[in-house]
Amino acid sequence: MPVLVMKFGGTSVATLDRIRRAAKRVGVEVSKGYDVIVIVSAMSGKTNELVGWVNETSPMYDAREYDAVVSSGENVTAGLMALTLQEMDVPARSWQGWQVPVKTTSAHSAARIEEIPSDNILAKFAEGMKVAVVAGFQGVSPEGRITTLGRGGSDTTAVAFAAAFEAERCDIYTDVDGVYTTDPRVESKARKLDKIAFEEMLELASLGAKVLQTRSVELAMRYKVKLRVLSSFEEQSDEAGTLVCDEEEIMESNVVAGVAFSREEAKMTLVSVADRPGIAATIFTALSEAGVNVDMIVQNISEEGRTDMTWSCPVDQVRRAEKAMAEAKSGDVFNFGELLADTDVAKVSVVGIGMRSHTGVAAKMFQVLSNEGINIQVITTSEIKISVLIDRKYMELAVQALHDAFELDKAA
Ligand code: ASP
Ligand code: MG
Repeated sequence: MPVLVMKFGGTSVATLDRIRRAAKRVGVEVSKGYDVIVIVSAMSGKTNELVGWVNETSPMYDAREYDAVVSSGENVTAGLMALTLQEMDVPARSWQGWQVPVKTTSAHSAARIEEIPSDNILAKFAEGMKVAVVAGFQGVSPEGRITTLGRGGSDTTAVAFAAAFEAERCDIYTDVDGVYTTDPRVESKARKLDKIAFEEMLELASLGAKVLQTRSVELAMRYKVKLRVLSSFEEQSDEAGTLVCDEEEIMESNVVAGVAFSREEAKMTLVSVADRPGIAATIFTALSEAGVNVDMIVQNISEEGRTDMTWSCPVDQVRRAEKAMAEAKSGDVFNFGELLADTDVAKVSVVGIGMRSHTGVAAKMFQVLSNEGINIQVITTSEIKISVLIDRKYMELAVQALHDAFELDKAA
């Protein structure tokens, strides 16, 4: 039997009624002849609540116990989904991560999937079970402890199962009906894309689009998993939603596929550090050891052997960065004048594989921002994206202006 993976996000399993609706969708696919692997998230809001309980109980928590608690939301929905399917006379069974087993690294709260043996579930399919409902987001470490894959991780569970079972497709059911040119809550003219290339989706996800966990797109790209994002709230046809696929499968596309943004950014500048070999290595090693995810980096012009070093990172990591720099200074690892932190910036990016073959995208982007009187503070580029750091209060304006200028409301 061909295998289909269907993943239901938190809003799609938020109530018993929604679980019933989702189960009906599963029933439709079973009646088409598929063996279905259903991956479920926790009911929406549940994981946040669990994380809150952990933090309240133990602010410097043991990550193994964090995972023990935070993984539990998915256990509930997996069992309920299996029961709902059984009530509909669809032979179904639930599986927690360790039962499959979903083998992961032992990096608690950010584990990576290493292997998913398919024999247990395939044996059940052979016995007549039609649906394996698997708790997303969780696995088991080599030490035999429960792990979780990082927030949004059930997308990654779904893609990993699709790869391991060579599924025909991996359908991600969510509360939006696909991938949009930008967030429709910021730009009402945002348009749903029928198809988007893996590379573009990967950039959009890592630059702030919340539809899919970045890691899941990485995996889909590596294993060529046909990934579809669609709504669990609407009647669906086989062409619904957005297909994330190889760029060869896309005939026509705009130079820019989408505009992404990330609101909670900070810009930090180390003023007056020595400009000599090894200084950048020392600074960024210290930041990385402190768990700061540095994104953009600029080294400013140097004068009399001193320079300023600027980087961006998530706002909630500013404290950590300050602590790491203060420690480096007091420990005489390196010296600097002062450390500035601007916590009112946002990152706006345009993404598109068309940039590989079209020039002038950066110039146009900067012109559009200039027309709106928006100052660009930091710029980074890759082959298929341009990102700028700007004042947070102009973020919406920048997204709208860029969406307009690149005519993303019109299909290619
Ligand atoms: N429930 C987890 C979270 O909220 C995993 C997921 O839904 O993807 O992050
Ligand atoms: Mg999600």
